[in-house]
Amino acid sequence: QYSSGVRKVTLIPGHGIGPEITVAVQKIFEAAKVPIEWDEVDVTAVRGPDGKFGIPQKAIDSVNANKIGLKGPLMTPVGKGYRSLNLALRKEFDLYANVRPCKSLDGIKTLYDNVDVVTIRENTEGEYSGIEHEIVDGVVQSIKLITEEASKRVAEFAFQFARDNNRKKVTAVHKANIMRMSDGLFLRCCRELATKYPDIKFEERYLDTVCLNMVQDPSKFDVLVMPNLYGDIMSDMCSGLVGGLGLTPSGNIGKNGALFESVHGTAPGIAGADRANPTALLLSGVMMLQHLRLPQHAHRIQAACFSVLKEGRVLTEDLGGTSSCTEYTNEIIKHLQ
Ligand code: NAD
Repeated sequence: QYSSGVRKVTLIPGHGIGPEITVAVQKIFEAAKVPIEWDEVDVTAVRGPDGKFGIPQKAIDSVNANKIGLKGPLMTPVGKGYRSLNLALRKEFDLYANVRPCKSLDGIKTLYDNVDVVTIRENTEGEYSGIEHEIVDGVVQSIKLITEEASKRVAEFAFQFARDNNRKKVTAVHKANIMRMSDGLFLRCCRELATKYPDIKFEERYLDTVCLNMVQDPSKFDVLVMPNLYGDIMSDMCSGLVGGLGLTPSGNIGKNGALFESVHGTAPGIAGADRANPTALLLSGVMMLQHLRLPQHAHRIQAACFSVLKEGRVLTEDLGGTSSCTEYTNEIIKHLQ
């Protein structure tokens, strides 16, 4: 339904290096003549009527209207009264599945050259439900909330993602041997969905075994689906296997929209110095184009980026190069075919 006409997309440049890497992505998209119009909003927290800081209404309205957005890193000030803006965005738009493809890149030397996994993390509940209390002085309790509804929808997303992307296998990652009820329910939901996707192989593995096997031989895995905390940790580990957070894109998918974002932070140490690597945000933009059913544009931009990385002549400092963000961006534009 998206393939014709110009689509409006919410753009959240974010903080720190966010604005620089956002400009880089905008320049590359413009050079590639991508048929989208950016609706730029600021999500810097404003104080609400309850005295707490939260996302400005204008930003919420923009995402609700456009249903799709690209987002740079956000700074969450440490201190009382502040909520994580990332968490607030996930809650506000019910972005229930976090998707992170981790694929080895030619030219980026890591321990492995055969990584091709996608982690799908339940994004709304589990250990991050935010239900914590102090029972008595010195004793706190934190609740891991698992529901059938959230488990089923993320499991269904994982199987459908596997089918749509020509993937062969989904692995449910869990600790149902210890967390019998909570992970047990998550696992039962995965099993149930597996029966509806007979074309996709399904396996169940303990989290600790997956960690062990992943660093021994990542080619054993394809698509992984798991509760929130496990997904948070596993997805960063998988990023590390392919070259780190500066290169890893991600998507947060909800029922009524999707927000694509780089997974790294605001890198305050290099902000404003034209030294940031825009690749993770650019590849998140590529994922967004695929979601918008603009595969030709997605492929063209990705190919240009991958060939600059492979050639290794013009790279930013985090990848061992000496080029600025602007030079790297211009090099990708030169490679657009
Ligand atoms: P960070 O990712 O900002 O930085 C970690 C290291 O990686 C630093 O050395 C940094 O210079 C480098 N780095 C990160 N991204 C880079 C890029 N694109 N190009 C080149 N180098 C890059 O993590 P941090 O220092 O722990 O966090 C800093 C701030 O970012 C905090 O306020 C934190 O809350 C926020 N943060 C936001 C998000 C998000 O919005 N998704 C994620 C993580 C951290």
